[in-house]
Amino acid sequence: MRSELVADLVERAQELLLNARRAVALTGAGISTPSGIPDFRSPTSGLWQHVDPMQVATLYAFQQRPQDFYDWIHPLVETTLAARPNAAHHALVEMESHGPLRAVITQNIDMLHSKAGSQRVIEIHGHLREMTCLRCYDIVPAAPVFQQFLATGEVPRCHCGGVLKPNVILFGEQLPVRAVQAAKHETIQSDLMLVAGSSLELASAGYLPILARQTGARLIVVNLEPTHVDELADVVIRADVVDILPRLAAPFQEADQAWDQA
Ligand SMILES: [Zn+2]
Repeated sequence: MRSELVADLVERAQELLLNARRAVALTGAGISTPSGIPDFRSPTSGLWQHVDPMQVATLYAFQQRPQDFYDWIHPLVETTLAARPNAAHHALVEMESHGPLRAVITQNIDMLHSKAGSQRVIEIHGHLREMTCLRCYDIVPAAPVFQQFLATGEVPRCHCGGVLKPNVILFGEQLPVRAVQAAKHETIQSDLMLVAGSSLELASAGYLPILARQTGARLIVVNLEPTHVDELADVVIRADVVDILPRLAAPFQEADQAWDQA
């Protein structure tokens, strides 16, 4: 996209945001790649170069061969735990603190929205914050477990001996009901949805912008690739979220500064 065109679109998106009373953001892998996190589900991420996802990242495969799953996820855990939020994450925090943003719905499991300081984050594909024992269903904080796992490479186990599974949604696994309901609720309540860094290819998130439009919300899409809802959107900016989101948040920052000086 030419920069003059992007500037026009940014301005239109800013106007929509300034006029919104209750906005919701929907984010995907594209907001985390600038933080160095590979796209969990993308065939081009390198994560799938040597393995078939169906062989390691389904619930059945996990139960059958947890060591294969943990061998595969090892680099992803290491990268994710060390990753820091980027300018796009911080822009959403700004829009929540001083603008109309009420919630972030994310497909990401990396917890970077929370790390950045977003207050209401709905993680529809789960997260790496906790783990669940597949035998006694005990839920434990993941950080100490992962520390040990990264040092030893051994399959994490519960005090009961059962295998611990990170609270991420594997292929073919049902999405967390409460998160999905919260995502729908926020979407229906909002008068603007900002899609940021998601190609919306997954059914789990792809219908939310459609639901938003059906219930009368405005729609802004910021993504490098085309999406299936571009035609429905009020503004489509085909650029990197790390460049665009801080520009969309700028009016709220300025308003905040003016307020401080008054
Ligand atoms: Zn257990």
